Order: sequence, then structure tokens, then C-alpha cells
Amino acid sequence: MATVSLEDVRKVYRGGVAAVKGVTLHIADGEFVSLVGPSGCGKSTTLNLIAGLEELSGGTLRIDGEVVNGMSPKERDIAMVFQSYALYPHLDVARNLAFPLEVAGLSRADIEARVREVASGLGLEALLSRRPKELSGGQRQRVALGRALVRRPKVFLFDEPLSNLDAALRTQMRGEIKKLHERLQATFIYVTHDQSEAMTLSDRVVVMSQGEVQQVAPPRELYDAPANLFVAGFFGSPRINQVKPGTLGLAAEDVVLGLRPEHLVVTAQGDESPGALTGLVYLVEPMGAESWVTVDVAGEQLVARAPGDFRAASGTPVSLRFDASKLRRFDAKTGRARASE
Ligand code: ADP
Repeated sequence: MATVSLEDVRKVYRGGVAAVKGVTLHIADGEFVSLVGPSGCGKSTTLNLIAGLEELSGGTLRIDGEVVNGMSPKERDIAMVFQSYALYPHLDVARNLAFPLEVAGLSRADIEARVREVASGLGLEALLSRRPKELSGGQRQRVALGRALVRRPKVFLFDEPLSNLDAALRTQMRGEIKKLHERLQATFIYVTHDQSEAMTLSDRVVVMSQGEVQQVAPPRELYDAPANLFVAGFFGSPRINQVKPGTLGLAAEDVVLGLRPEHLVVTAQGDESPGALTGLVYLVEPMGAESWVTVDVAGEQLVARAPGDFRAASGTPVSLRFDASKLRRFDAKTGRARASE
């Protein structure tokens, strides 16, 4: 087990692409940290730098306090799980699991014991003599996980390990990875572009954009107190409503207000309570437990929550209510969060 620490880490690729622009991050022993952000923001590059698959252009990288800048991936004692399973097609599951240990020169008895232990932990016992092509996507992903586990590395790195799976399987495997982390108590660093994976799995989430860290915080804090408009917009589905400066009589000229759709509630037409807004229904999206209703309010479209059985034709007048304490304020120029007033 190990701490991982990045100090002003940079990566400029040949041709001058600055992919990582000075990332500082301290990951505790046993912590589950996700790197999240849109495609191209530098997540994979950061992970590859930690793994030693890419060379740093600047900064310092430490594992367990030891500077590893010049170390090969092997010397770093980490394991990486990718989205492509990278299993050996001609070897059965048992040999696929055993391979990293054979390379490391362990005895046959040790190898067998470890393969059995990992296979039982991941529910792979019945599949040990199958080849990868005889496995489902989820089973293959489990073997890939197992192959990382057998080596008992200090740090596990995951690069979008679930993105090739269908939605149901992705949710199931997400749960399994979380349970695995609970069981191993090892340091996990997990790259994903999927906000819900980052939110559900992590102790802390690192939000990146254009090679820079936007915020590092536990999931709940990111959601409730985003550091800027980028983070506010990245987490939450439907997206947070952004009320532009000076509109609706709500926001001052230099402030953008953020209000999550679940905090804006459709009430009966004619709600005259102070602070209520009125508008016309644009779209109703029933989700089962609740409905999301897009409402035109003074030329702005806001998404609001309504009961699951809410129905209204487009153009129907409605009132909207919100809890003012849920409003988040952002500087219109910089996008940075301001203290609530
Ligand atoms: P993410 O994982 O967030 O999608 P990446 O770390 O893969 O982002 O990429 C960050 C930036 O670096 C992108 O602009 C990408 O095009 C560029 N990049 C990635 N790998 C290379 C490479 N080997 N050579 C040059 N540019 C690269």
C-alpha cells in the first residue's frame, strides 16, 4: 500500500501539446481517487505519468515518499487496468492470471495459490479453463482485474475500465470495484469521463479541464459547493440551471446563479408566494419517480422537478418555486464561486 504524490507535474508532448499543466495532488494510502473531466483534459496522461508509461516534462512524482520520476513502470510496483481488456487470447483464464507471476519468477505452488485466491474473490473459479473469446464482456473485465490483483501491487490504476461494457453491466462492475476497494484497502486511482462513476466510487474526485485541476473534493462537496461553473456544470443530471447576469430580477449584473433542477419545483399555476417564478412549459420528461420539466421563464429555459405523474402540454403556464438557500453564486467573468450572501 502506498501514498502517491504529484508536485507541479507537467507533460508537454512532442509537437508542443501541453496535456498536463502543473498538477499538484496528494493521494493518501488506501484512498480511492478519481480523475474526471471531458475527453482530452489530460486524465489519461496524468495516469500514464504515474504509471511510468510517459515521461514527465516537469515536476516531481513520489510513491510512498520516494521520487519515482526516472523509474520504469516495473520498479514502481503498480498495476494498471485498461478499458481494452488486453488478455492473451491463446491462454486460458488460469494462465492469463498466472502470467504476471510467471514473469516475476514465483514458484509454481505460490502461483497456484494466488491464482486460486484471486479467482475465488472475483467469482472466476468455474471459468479458469476457458479462453478469453469464450467469456462475456463482464467476465473478461473481471479477468483483467484479476490479473492486476495477483501481483498485489502497492497502487492500482484504472483507465476507463468499464467504458466498453453495456449500461447494466457497467453498473454491476462499478459496484464490484467499490467492494474490491473496501476489501483490499489499497490505493486506487481511477480515470473516467463519467460523472456518476466518479461520484459513486470515490473518496475524493479530481476534476480536470484543459490539463488543469479545477477542484479536488469528496463527491458530496463537489456537488454542493462547486468551486466554479465548470465543476457545477460537469456534475448533476440534468445539468445545473445557470441564470445569466441581470435576468429574472434574481442575479446582479456580475453574477451567474446556479440552481440545481431538483431544487426548482413546479407548483400549481397561480402560485403567488414571494419568490415564485412563472413560465410556460416547453418539455416534460417523465423519469418514473419524478419528471423533469423544461420551462421558458422570461426568455430563459430552466429545468425543474415535478412529480412522476406530472403531465402538461407545451405552452401550459406553471409556477416554479425554489429554496433561496440552494442558489449558488458565480462570478460572471471568472466563473469562480462566490460566497453566498
Ligand atoms: P483524456 O484522458 O482526458 O481524454 P489525454 O490525457 O488522453 O486526455 O490527452 C490530453 C491531451 O494530450 C489531448 O489534447 C491529446 O490530444 C494530447 N495527447 C495525448 N496523447 C498524446 C500523444 N501521445 N502525443 C501528442 N499528444 C497527445
